[in-house]
Amino acid sequence: MLDLTGKNALVTGIANNRSIAWGIAQQLHASGANLGITYLPDEKGKMEKKVAELVEPLNPTLFLPCNVQNDEQVASTFAAIQEKWGKLDILIHCLAFANKDDLSGDFSNTSRSGFTTAMEISTYSLIQLAGAAKPLMTEGGSIVTLTYLGGVRAIPNYNVMGVAKAGLECSVRYLAAEMGPANIRVNAISAGPIRTLASSAVGGILDMIHHVEQVAPLRRTVTQIEVGNTAAFLCSDLSSGITGQVIYVDAGYEIMGM
Ligand code: NAD
Repeated sequence: MLDLTGKNALVTGIANNRSIAWGIAQQLHASGANLGITYLPDEKGKMEKKVAELVEPLNPTLFLPCNVQNDEQVASTFAAIQEKWGKLDILIHCLAFANKDDLSGDFSNTSRSGFTTAMEISTYSLIQLAGAAKPLMTEGGSIVTLTYLGGVRAIPNYNVMGVAKAGLECSVRYLAAEMGPANIRVNAISAGPIRTLASSAVGGILDMIHHVEQVAPLRRTVTQIEVGNTAAFLCSDLSSGITGQVIYVDAGYEIMGM
């Protein structure tokens, strides 16, 4: 049975009710996990208010600002987990960012600063958060990140984010190799295209979704809740033999040649 009772789970990356992290948080909660939620703070506090209202029904016992570009916020997030929970079982890394300019047009126009930003926020942050989580996963654990097919195939307009996702998937393997002896498993879910705040920055996202709906074996794309169900599985003992993998939750699109 999929049962996460007694597990402490930190979920990053909820911006609104379309966020994949919101689908994951709901399914972890439904499976019995105790949730901690982080949000990306802004100067006016709008994001804090919006995310707080959204997640209230899930009764998070930690709710913290965490911009992964801010080392102090990352450190205080994990200090709060240590203090309040004593141990961490689950880390959901569900965030990414690239400048909109770098998500359309010629890939060869990617700027050095755009490349660095995408890699820092979308790729390095997994290494950073996993490193901070490791000493708190004293009874083993599960780390799940989100990737996309654009990390292994050339998808129009995905550009620099494809390079970031390739690095992310590779980081999953290195982290899994390092942390396996501590019974910490690290996996990625490669989700099919879903309309969200982040994906709306990718040029032609609606065309991508339409194409998937016509071509994928299931003739549709996936929902945030379907991704959440796979995340719950990857965080549970039902997946105890799986680590270092990229699991496709994409209605089968990845297998198609045409
Ligand atoms: P989203 O916009 O809802 O989520 C992206 C999150 O990243 C937001 O909550 C945002 O606040 C957060 N974020 C951005 N910069 C940050 C920073 N510096 N520090 C902390 N958080 C920061 O969009 P989403 O589509 O749910 O994206 C979640 C993940 O899923 C991303 O890794 C994305 O690449 C991946 N993904 C999305 C799709 C899709 O089609 N939507 C498909 C495959 C993978």
